Amino acid sequence: MAVPKRKVSPSRRGMRRSHDALKPEAFHECPNCGELKRPHNLCQACGHYNGREIISVGL
Ligand SMILES: [Zn+2]
Repeated sequence: MAVPKRKVSPSRRGMRRSHDALKPEAFHECPNCGELKRPHNLCQACGHYNGREIISVGL
């Protein structure tokens, strides 16, 4: 089994983990209803995408 030759120093460990942070989810306003929706995704509130109603949202 391959084994690391040296202990990873706290500094190197931190450098590696500097890229591990999670970014906040992207959100955009729906042009139809103004609700926040995820880009490139169907609006969950009104069922519109690209100016057209894809699914009807019954209340
Ligand atoms: Zn919408």
